[in-house]
Amino acid sequence: MQVIQSSKLANVCYDIRGPILDEAMRLEEQGHRILKLNTGNPAPFGFEAPPEILQDILRNLSTAHGYGDSKGLLAARRAVVMHYEDRGFEELTVDDVYIGNGVSELIQMSMQALLDDGDEVLVPAPDYPLWTASVSLAGGTAVHYRCDEQADWYPDLADIEAKVTDRTRGIVVINPNNPTGAVYDDELLRGLTDIARRHNLIVYSDEIYDKILYDDATHTPTALFAPDLLCLTFNGLSKAYRVAGFRSGWMTISGPKEHARSYIEGLSILANMRLCANMPAQHAIAAALGGRQSIKDLILPGGRLLEQRDAAWKLLNDIPGVSCVKPKGALYAFPRLDPKVHKIKDDAQLVLDLLKQQHIFVVQGTGFNWPDPDHFRLVTLPRAEELTDAVTRIGTFLDGYKQP
Ligand code: PLP
Repeated sequence: MQVIQSSKLANVCYDIRGPILDEAMRLEEQGHRILKLNTGNPAPFGFEAPPEILQDILRNLSTAHGYGDSKGLLAARRAVVMHYEDRGFEELTVDDVYIGNGVSELIQMSMQALLDDGDEVLVPAPDYPLWTASVSLAGGTAVHYRCDEQADWYPDLADIEAKVTDRTRGIVVINPNNPTGAVYDDELLRGLTDIARRHNLIVYSDEIYDKILYDDATHTPTALFAPDLLCLTFNGLSKAYRVAGFRSGWMTISGPKEHARSYIEGLSILANMRLCANMPAQHAIAAALGGRQSIKDLILPGGRLLEQRDAAWKLLNDIPGVSCVKPKGALYAFPRLDPKVHKIKDDAQLVLDLLKQQHIFVVQGTGFNWPDPDHFRLVTLPRAEELTDAVTRIGTFLDGYKQP
């Protein structure tokens, strides 16, 4: 008997760990060393966990083996409330905070609790593809608003507004952006939230890279422009605190919650159904938010992440037919392959060929719901020397690359 997957998965796609990863693992089994530039996972590149996080987890480990509150450890939720109070949020309480097994789980819950078949959510293109996948899995339709490479990857507000229909329920903002590295200014966030206000949309703001900013970039939480709108803000420990494997993130609900009682009840049902988030890792949250913000050492002048961003950006732009907007935040570069120089019809094939020929694993741009096969994403996590070598090899590969 053939066992066939659910039709719910028909439009669900997550290429960052897609079929090309299977080929990368096959090559590794054959003894090849693969440089994995596909996931924003700091640990394998020598980034250590902040010591206070490890200490607090270890100190609490012997009493963290039971189930806990579905919404999360009180001390962790308090720390999240204090963190956002410092950033200017008003009237947030511990009841408005949900702790999850990474932001990933909370993104999925937020869409499952919201959408009926045919409902629409505005999602950026390119996007972090979990958003589109979560909308689809929940029965909704992701309607992509295009970010403009010529405008530092800012979205066009008129394009967003033109895509609102009577089925649109929410708008997703990813700031700083994965994969483009764009960081939005106040004017853009005000414009986005004005659209949400005009059309009664819920705002979903994914701010997991809010502390990974380069040059003069500053980050403002979207919710500060929308105290009168229901706004869900997502963040966690995976990136700024480099502990992605602990799977620890949070979601806050701000704005007029009295109009969203049923939705919030739905979120609580889903939180109850998954019992609770991993308890030991929840002890890391207060330690992280209240501890030394060592991410600053990595992004300020002389910092490793800044140097790596600079090296990748410069070397990518040195490759003939490749251009890359300078990322202002996050951990990625999203270069463009000039279609006049590199005639790519299938960017997944391009990425597979790069993997086979150079043993470098990047992700195709269409994997981020970018419509054209003319981009790819690499992580800027390896040390500058290793990145220099990798980008040079990508240039060599592209030099002779022709698709049939
Ligand atoms: N949101 C964005 C924009 C991301 O880039 C990622 C991971 O790469 C996530 C969410 C998921 O993070 P977590 O590890 O907290 O599940």
